[in-house]
Amino acid sequence: MSKDLVTTWSPESARKFFPAYQQKPFCHQVYFDHASTSLRFKSSLDSMQNAEAFGYGNANRGAHKMAGMAAVLMDDSREKVAAFFGVEAQSVAFTSGATESANILANSLCSRLQASDTIYASALEHHANYLPWLNASQRIGCQFKEIPLAFDGGIDLDWLEMNIPRDHPKIIAMTAMSNVTGYEPPLQFIKSLIQKDGSGCQFVVDAAQAVTHMDVEKYVPHADWLFFSSHKTFSTAGSGAIVSCNGPQQFNSHPPGKFGGGMIKRLANDGPIWVSGHARAEAGTQNLGAIAALGASLSDLAAWDIESLRGHYGILSDKLIESLQELSDVRILGRGERNGIISFDCSWAHPHDIGSVLDTHSVAVRVGHHCAIPLMKSMGCDASIRVSFGPGSKMEEIDGFVVAMMDAKRRLS
Ligand code: PMP
Repeated sequence: MSKDLVTTWSPESARKFFPAYQQKPFCHQVYFDHASTSLRFKSSLDSMQNAEAFGYGNANRGAHKMAGMAAVLMDDSREKVAAFFGVEAQSVAFTSGATESANILANSLCSRLQASDTIYASALEHHANYLPWLNASQRIGCQFKEIPLAFDGGIDLDWLEMNIPRDHPKIIAMTAMSNVTGYEPPLQFIKSLIQKDGSGCQFVVDAAQAVTHMDVEKYVPHADWLFFSSHKTFSTAGSGAIVSCNGPQQFNSHPPGKFGGGMIKRLANDGPIWVSGHARAEAGTQNLGAIAALGASLSDLAAWDIESLRGHYGILSDKLIESLQELSDVRILGRGERNGIISFDCSWAHPHDIGSVLDTHSVAVRVGHHCAIPLMKSMGCDASIRVSFGPGSKMEEIDGFVVAMMDAKRRLS
C-alpha cells in the first residue's frame, strides 16, 4: 500500500488500487455511487481468482488436501477480517452479506423472545436491518418500535432516554452510518443507556456503510454484534460477516439462526446438538472466492489512514453542498454530513428523471428510496438523489456533476 496516502489523501494514488479506473468505458465515468457498491481492489479480484482456481475443495468438509487448502484460505481470510476489527478470528462468522447476516441474527437472537418483549430498530435503517426484526416481532407477537428521528435528522436521544427504561428492549438494531444521509448515530451514548438499563439488551450494529468510512474504534467497542457486506468494502460481492464483538463464546449463547450442513455436532435422540462458535452461524457451503477477496480487501483497507480519507470526503462534501446550494430549489436531506454521502431532492424534477439526465453525462448516482423507506418517510420524501464518493473521487468530477445538474435543470424544470 503506498505511503503517500497516509498523510494527505491523493485520489490519483488511490485510483491505482482499482482496475476499474483503468478500463474503458469506466474511465470516462464519474462514479458517485460507491454507497450502492464500491469499486473493487485489484488485490481482492486477484484473491478471488486465486481461491476459485486453486482452492477447489469444500472448506472443512473433507479429508483430502484440496478441502484442506480451501480451509486454509478461509482461515487466512478470517484472520484478516478479525485483525481489521480488532477481534479474535473465532469471533468472525462468514455469511453471504449484510442482509443474510441480519436475518441470521434476527432468527437467532429472537428465538427465545416472548410476546411481552420489545425490539427497537431505528428509523435510519436500511431494510436489511429493519425488516428481519419487524418480521421476527410479528412471528413472536412481541412489540416492535421504530426509534424516531429528531427534527435535525439525527436519532431522537430524548426518546431513547425516556423509552429504554420503560420498555427494557431486548434488541436494539441500529446502523453505524446511514447509507442515505451519512449520519453517524452516537453509539457510545446509546450503549451507555443500554448498560444503565441492565436488561441484557443486545446492541446489533449494521456496519455496512461504516466499514470504509469510519475508524472501527467508533463502533466495534459499543456493539454486541455487527455485520457488513463484502461488496461495500472494495471487494467482490457474495460474502460478508457477522462479528461477535464480545468474543467467540457469544455465538454459543443463542440458538442457530440458519440451519444446514456444518453446524450440527450430533443428532441425539432428544434433538440436535449444535456446534459451538462461528460455525454455528455458517450453515452450508461457503463462497470461498468472495471470502478470500473480502480478507484481501480489509487487509489493504487496514493500511489506509481512514482519517485522511475522511478529510478528503470532507473537502469533496463541502464543495458538493456549496454547488448544490447555488443551483437553488435543492433540499439536502438530513444534517448535511460531510463524510462523503449526500442525498438531496429538487423541487423542479423527480430524482429518477434527474438521474437519467446525469447518466447521459456519464455521471452515475443512485436515485430512489435507497432501501430505507422508514428514513425517507421520516424525512417526508419519497425519493432522492444520492451522491456517494469513493477514495478515487476528485474535485474536478464535481465540476462535471454540476454541469450535468445544470443541464438537468434546464431540460426538466
Ligand atoms: N445496510 C446498509 C447500511 C447498506 O448500505 C446495505 C446495502 N446497500 C445493506 C445493509 C444491505 O447490504 P446487502 O444488500 O449487501 O446485503
